[in-house]
Parts: sequence; C-alpha cells; structure tokens
Amino acid sequence: MSDSPSPSRAAPFYCPYCGDEDLRPEEDTAWLCVACRRVFAVRFVGLRTAEVSR
Ligand SMILES: [Zn+2]
Repeated sequence: MSDSPSPSRAAPFYCPYCGDEDLRPEEDTAWLCVACRRVFAVRFVGLRTAEVSR
C-alpha cells in the first residue's frame, strides 16, 4: 500500500456530507470533498463486539 502516506489516515470512499466520491487528501489526516468543498477527517475509534439481544 504505497499510496497511504500515513497509517492513521483512514480512507473514506464517500463524502459523509454530500455522498460524492471525489475526495482528495488534505493536510495531515483530512480529506477534501471536491464536490461540496468540505474538509473533514475520519478517525478510527475502535472495535466493538456485536451485542447479543436477549
Ligand atoms: Zn461532499
């Protein structure tokens, strides 16, 4: 994976605001949505095990 300069940068496939797929890397861990010009970052929080409803 040579196209990921930072291991902490999670790559989103869609803009969470407008749903566009044209995302460009911004400073640090941020992404720019070309369609709506919003800059956002995706943060990995952790894993959650599935809950068993009873
Ligand atoms: Zn967008």
